[in-house]
Amino acid sequence: MKNCILLLLLFLSFNAFNQGYFQQEVNYTISVTLNDQDNTLSGYESFEYINNSGLPMDAIYVHLWPNAYKNTETALAKQLYNMNDMSLQFAGEGEIGWIDSLNFQVNGEDVKWALDEEHIDICKINLNSVLQSGQKIVVTTPFKVKIPSGDISRMGHVGESYQITQWYPKPAVFDQNGWHAMPYLTQGEFYSEYGSFDVSITLPKNYVVGATGDLQTESEILFLEECADRTKKKYLEGEFKDRKTLSGGSTDFPVSSDEMKTIQFTQKNVHDFAWFADKRFEVLKGEVVLPHSGRTVTSWAMFVTHHHALWEDAIEYINDGTYYYSLWNGDYPYNNVTAVDGTISAGGGMEYPNITVIGNAGTKEELEIVIVHEVGHNWFYGLLGSNERDHAWMDEGLNTLNEIRYIETKYPKNERMSDMMMGMAEKIHLEHMNHHDMSDLTYSLSAGYGIDQPIELHSDDYTQVNYGAIVYAKTGLVFTYLKDYLGDTLFDKCMQAYFDEWHYKHPQPQDLRKSLETTSGKDLGWLFDDIIPTTAQIDYSIKKVKYDDKGATVTVKNTGQLDVPVSVDAISNGKIKSTLWLEPGQKKGTLYFEGTNFDKFTIDSELRMPEPNRNNNSWHKKGLCHKVEPVKMEFLGGDNEPNYTNAWYTPIIGTNKYDKFMVGVMFHNLTIPKNKFEYILAPMFSVGRKNIAGFANLSYSWVPAQNFRMISIGLNTKTYGNGLGVAADSLTPARGVFYSFQPYIDFKIGKPAARSFSKHGLKLTGNYVLENGSLLYNNSTIGGSAIYSYTYKKRIHDLSSSVRFDYYNNTTKVGLSSTASDLLNVGVDVKYKMLYWKKKKEYVEIRAFFGQNLFYNGTQNARYGFALGGQSGTMDAFYENTMLGRNEVNGMWSNQRIENQGGFKTVAGFGTSTKQLVAANLFFDLPYIPLVGLFADFGMFENAGVMETVYDFGVGIRIVDKVGIYFPLYESANLKNSFASDIKYFNKIRFTLNLNGLNPGEIIQKVL
Ligand SMILES: [Zn+2]
Repeated sequence: MKNCILLLLLFLSFNAFNQGYFQQEVNYTISVTLNDQDNTLSGYESFEYINNSGLPMDAIYVHLWPNAYKNTETALAKQLYNMNDMSLQFAGEGEIGWIDSLNFQVNGEDVKWALDEEHIDICKINLNSVLQSGQKIVVTTPFKVKIPSGDISRMGHVGESYQITQWYPKPAVFDQNGWHAMPYLTQGEFYSEYGSFDVSITLPKNYVVGATGDLQTESEILFLEECADRTKKKYLEGEFKDRKTLSGGSTDFPVSSDEMKTIQFTQKNVHDFAWFADKRFEVLKGEVVLPHSGRTVTSWAMFVTHHHALWEDAIEYINDGTYYYSLWNGDYPYNNVTAVDGTISAGGGMEYPNITVIGNAGTKEELEIVIVHEVGHNWFYGLLGSNERDHAWMDEGLNTLNEIRYIETKYPKNERMSDMMMGMAEKIHLEHMNHHDMSDLTYSLSAGYGIDQPIELHSDDYTQVNYGAIVYAKTGLVFTYLKDYLGDTLFDKCMQAYFDEWHYKHPQPQDLRKSLETTSGKDLGWLFDDIIPTTAQIDYSIKKVKYDDKGATVTVKNTGQLDVPVSVDAISNGKIKSTLWLEPGQKKGTLYFEGTNFDKFTIDSELRMPEPNRNNNSWHKKGLCHKVEPVKMEFLGGDNEPNYTNAWYTPIIGTNKYDKFMVGVMFHNLTIPKNKFEYILAPMFSVGRKNIAGFANLSYSWVPAQNFRMISIGLNTKTYGNGLGVAADSLTPARGVFYSFQPYIDFKIGKPAARSFSKHGLKLTGNYVLENGSLLYNNSTIGGSAIYSYTYKKRIHDLSSSVRFDYYNNTTKVGLSSTASDLLNVGVDVKYKMLYWKKKKEYVEIRAFFGQNLFYNGTQNARYGFALGGQSGTMDAFYENTMLGRNEVNGMWSNQRIENQGGFKTVAGFGTSTKQLVAANLFFDLPYIPLVGLFADFGMFENAGVMETVYDFGVGIRIVDKVGIYFPLYESANLKNSFASDIKYFNKIRFTLNLNGLNPGEIIQKVL
């Protein structure tokens, strides 16, 4: 297979090279015509390929990325599918894209070339004769591109608005590590050779075009000037004033002019060329003087008329971005910098050399951040051409650092994160959160649950959440932290040294490290060897503080998995008076602060260090407990503030048959970032029993350095009415009550190093349940469970399975008689769901269960058997589920079952076995009828030494895995005969209600 050859080639070339850095050069001349009737491009391309490698070449790999949009088998299509984006899966002929009409010639001669067998968006051109080192060839080809729908990824059109990116045949990079031929992806960016572009675009005359490079066509320069004057006039004369909204609205496309125009752009020292064409564009023009050279750069903003209010100050954002990035990293070397308004589907914006496209922003603040970020990519990817696919952090992360710094420099008191929540911030206690906090919270959320991934990872290996939380946010935080540690002046020197050495080149991570270490004179192993390649977490605490006559000795302890520089602030009256840094290399270190009137010492009081747990960072002079933060109790929920022990309260209500109505208050400390120790206490008053009901969950979780995402130990306990015992009179229900205590340890197995579609878990629980129904019924159960679970979810497949052991040891007293028993059951449960109709998300689900009793001592009780129809409330002996009428024997509440064990959609008690049960279930979503499906069940169980065979089918309504209602239509004779002959149909309808897994923490872990 081609793929293997490619790998082999990569491997061989890797070993063959020992000649250090080199860089190939590609110089393009392209002419292209846009047909806006059928959304195609017809072009002719000629590129000069110069071999600077020192090695002879007999082939070159060329990207044909428009082919990524061609069918459902491309790497792009598969990736989108895994991201639950069906836009390419169900794209029609009009929406897909491709490139064809290719006819490659090298130096005017026909050559052999072929598409890669696995990736149709890569081709290999075999050269007729070897291209020697230092020599060049000229490759030419005509091409035709069908422009895909702009809803799919980066290249596309939305009506007659064109975003022409990754559109022409383009050689892959050949560097000291070999070839980097790669299929196009949405999550995962680019790596391209530097060179020059000379591009002529022909299109109807009334299009406004923004592109990479300097415009060379006089008439078009005049046309743009006129557009800019017209837009300026509209602002000045208030012509826009009837449309004040920032987002929404629309502008009609004018009819395309019959007359065509050809406009030419040229640029040197860039690695890509993109252009954007829209007949509706308003144009703003400005200029910015660069800080180091004093050179003037022209800035352009192009946007649709209905976004005029939003884009009013766009030139300011472009200019300020260009100025600050130049100031901190090195001057912008090109003549033009442009931002265009476009409705792209890949993120908020997308960068290309000299030009960026901006997606729909909701506010001016958001627009500024996106423009500055995308303009900033002119440095981190444009000028410093790292391999974005393999080391996405080198562009996105360093760019986030500069973006954070931009906001902090221009708006020192910003509350950008709170502002973005538009009024919601105060309600959930997220007020006063700044731009830096947004990255901090994003990273801490992911790290707190142990689902984060390393900074250095292939782009396609990240989960969607981590691509943002790690590549952007964590890297941005880490390098902002490095800046704080080195100080702005030294840090700027470092970044400028990196820029000077590597602009127009392909820096690798080790090149960045070398620039930073050489310039700063610091060993940055803690950053490049420890933080970047791992998910290890920072955690420092203040061990003790000792005052003497002149000052205080602060002992700092490293309680985390990383050894990094750490800062301690001495604070008095809420103000930082002094800051000292402790260098890495010390498990426990001391700092001496001169002065005696500090009332608090805090590690990293300004929250700059990416540390998920900050609750052990302070020492207070006052009070008995120097290390405990004051409690802050607030309504509902919010963020985890390092200076407080946050707690939350909220009223809750509940209901079941025996407690009738319950009302109470829930106290908890569930927050972001996550606390290691978490509690939920929910005492309620039961109206039905005139007594206390409710639940309490306590847990302590941590994220080990290796092998486990997270380990939790905890205790769940609850008490509610259970209806057992004898009623006071015939009208009042029995006031029986249960108490359950469930200590557990839960292992989430495996680190998500690469994007993984499977999850393993092991949970061990102990159980103690006391059921008190007064003298006439008293039952205690001691036992435990071990559950191993495995899930796999990818594209159309969804497998979940578990093996569960349950041990019960119970003593039941009814009146004066007492019985005791103990037993061990094992159950194996496998469920497989497959999308049979992708477009409508219709599933077919097959499930199999096998249950076996391993031993049973004492009197056998059906309560501990395997239920054909899933457990009833009575059989839920460990009280793990929420049952509305747990021990009812008739009436509606008696028809609730748990979706487990035999899984039959029946309420029959028939089929319960204390020995063995085998069952299979099928559920088929009906097309066109939402939530409704057909079910069929088949089962076998041992009944008094005889194997019985049972089956049924019917119609069911399901709302995900939370609610189900099932109507039997046919039952096998033995199942049918097990009901009383006069049973009403209504009483055979079975329902399920699954309230487990609704805790916010559990939901977060499921979603992320
Ligand atoms: Zn970016």
